[in-house]
Amino acid sequence: MKSSALLLDTAAELAGLPADDVASAAEAARAVGHDGKFLLTLIQPSNQPALAALENRDIRRRLFEASISRGSGGSLDVLELARSTARLRAEKAALLGFANYAELVVDRQTARDFDAVQSMLTRLAPAAVRNADAEAAALTEAAGHRLEAWDWAFYSAKVRREKYAVDEQALRPYFELERVLRDGVFFAATSLYGITFHERKDLAGYHPDVRVWEVRDQDSSGLGLFLGDYYTRESKRGGAWMNSLVDQSGLLGTRPVVINNLNISKPPAGEPTLLTLDELRTTFHEFGHALHGLLSNVTYPRFAGTAVPRDFVEYPSQVNEMWILWPEVLANYARHHATGEPLPQQVADKLNDSRLWGEGFGTTEYLGAALLDLAWHVLDETEIPDDVLGFEAKSLAAAGVAHALIPPRYRTGYFQHIFAGAGYAAGYYSYIWSEVLDAETVDWFTENGGLTRDNGERFRQELLSRGNSRDPLESFRALRGRDARLEPLLKRLGLE
Ligand SMILES: [Zn+2]
Repeated sequence: MKSSALLLDTAAELAGLPADDVASAAEAARAVGHDGKFLLTLIQPSNQPALAALENRDIRRRLFEASISRGSGGSLDVLELARSTARLRAEKAALLGFANYAELVVDRQTARDFDAVQSMLTRLAPAAVRNADAEAAALTEAAGHRLEAWDWAFYSAKVRREKYAVDEQALRPYFELERVLRDGVFFAATSLYGITFHERKDLAGYHPDVRVWEVRDQDSSGLGLFLGDYYTRESKRGGAWMNSLVDQSGLLGTRPVVINNLNISKPPAGEPTLLTLDELRTTFHEFGHALHGLLSNVTYPRFAGTAVPRDFVEYPSQVNEMWILWPEVLANYARHHATGEPLPQQVADKLNDSRLWGEGFGTTEYLGAALLDLAWHVLDETEIPDDVLGFEAKSLAAAGVAHALIPPRYRTGYFQHIFAGAGYAAGYYSYIWSEVLDAETVDWFTENGGLTRDNGERFRQELLSRGNSRDPLESFRALRGRDARLEPLLKRLGLE
């Protein structure tokens, strides 16, 4: 789909935006024949990054409105398509003997039971909204005027700077890619699982930027290959992901070959690659998927590694993020690339302290999208609404996540996860479902002494090695000793 965008006449209207972003907006306008003007293109979710920086309130309002009205009305209206997609899915579910499409989808997930999903989301919603209201009060105070939805990100960034003194740019020299990989990501994996990484410059990747490591087990036997393709380039799709090129299989005697892809801007030759906080998090996250593939130990390749239900697959990768700020790991990799100085402890503390700021907003906009997704997929064929926007509003209110200042992360007109293919249809809840297991597991590691070989071995044997060869929730129970509870996640999100 062609995306909507906001076209502006003067650079003055972009006041507050970093110079690089202004240059990109000029370039984007030139590319579509508006030389001398500025085009703010929209990214997928409702919340646009530029909203945090633009000083002009009216420009913020126009950008916000362009974002949340995408796909509804005008020449790019897709609401009719959404309606017919929902109707066809309801029809399919009925043909297969299910009450609705959500029941059909959840039946094949680890959650199994649709009520379990609904009750989790319903418990989270009021707590998230309460938190968002508290954040809104703090933002109104910082703004000194009535807050509108397009003011949120701007004042949230201001509060983060003033109250937590976290300056993202100043952190980057401490997060140099090579050191992050060797002394952070690989170091944590060696400490936990006993595996080691040996770069194989004699093996060629599919592109000069692709690096290849042989992964060896504790007894030095070969475990598989890990490929890292970290830099962005024109022919690469955006985002970050893990792929399995060869699945592990006892039956076929194959060892895993897995790859991590990111889209980090490549620095000029000879310059270090300094990661943003977000890129740092993504590097650990994607490596969690890679470990799931590398440590797989199953007979049949169809059950190998990450071939688990969608609402389980993010769980091991989310767990791997816990090592980013783990003191032994952080101290090992977070050093200034030029001076070798360790990241000052008070900066690391501030990073920890600021973690909860914005969770009210984040959880509320996420739940809005997850509940909107379910609202569309619990309908039967006769219930497809004529008035889509009215249906959205009613569904969000009924689920308790309607918030005047916080639109859902995606609305029907641009909810690609669920309408552009069935990838996440009735499954957008998966992210937080996995996070329940993740929060429990972080607690388990922490209670048992954290970064130890014993803990790693148990996580590997009971969970990572099993893939989908047994019920993933049974693997979780074998690790934790009981079913997952919601409390650790509530605590993590500050929603107790
Ligand atoms: Zn992931």
